[in-house]
Amino acid sequence: MNVILMGLPGAGKGTQGERIVEEFGIPHISTGDMFRAAIREQTEMGLLAKSYMDQGLLVPDEVVIGIVKERLNKPDCEQGFMLDGFPRTLAQAESLDTMLLQLGRQIDHVINIDVDRSLLLERLTGRRICKSCGATYHVVFNPTKEEGVCDKCSGELYQREDDNEATVATRLDVNIEQSAPILTYYKDKGLLRNINGQQDINVVFGDVAKVLRGQA
Ligand code: ADP
Ligand code: AMP
Repeated sequence: MNVILMGLPGAGKGTQGERIVEEFGIPHISTGDMFRAAIREQTEMGLLAKSYMDQGLLVPDEVVIGIVKERLNKPDCEQGFMLDGFPRTLAQAESLDTMLLQLGRQIDHVINIDVDRSLLLERLTGRRICKSCGATYHVVFNPTKEEGVCDKCSGELYQREDDNEATVATRLDVNIEQSAPILTYYKDKGLLRNINGQQDINVVFGDVAKVLRGQA
């Protein structure tokens, strides 16, 4: 099963992605996570990506397309994959089609988690992530049992550098502008499914799972 998870920053892609991995066992490929790992490892690509990410801007298409191509060729993607945060431009969507054609694969589902812009600022500024296992929490909407400590692995929580009010506003503007043509692109292909992301996390997952099981 090959899935694309779409949605503006803060819509819940990472949160739902964790559950999809548990339930469906396909690898979760987040371009944002890949860039953050490259930044931690201080690679040349990581440093380049950081200069864009710090401003809330998109990393150039050729860089993103390159890392996704490499990732999709790894053996763990043979039984399926879930893309999160890619494609983010029409050029990326078209390149993805070319990559998949070469691999003899196709996208089965494009799930768009829909949340009003007005809610996203609060979601992003309150987001906390586990340093050890990457689990995502929210200080109000999805808090850990013990403040600052991951429920799953007892790791320490941190706040992403780009989850500050100024950068969030730019990220939302950039992503709203770029995502509209991609949604049309997948709608025209008959692949797009919109899900109300303003419901409880478990209810959103129920809706996502129904689509992935072909029950909705
Ligand atoms: P994305 O990966 O799309 O940027 P995340 O999954 O990281 O979004 O979610 C952003 C923030 O919103 C996190 O703090 C998360 O805990 C919270 N969140 C995710 N889904 C919901 C939801 N359905 N209701 C309330 N808060 C949510
Ligand atoms: P995310 O973790 O998905 O919120 O992404 C964090 C940041 O990484 C974005 O604000 C961009 O700077 C960069 N990024 C992630 N995915 C892409 C992509 N597909 N295209 C361009 N930039 C990306």
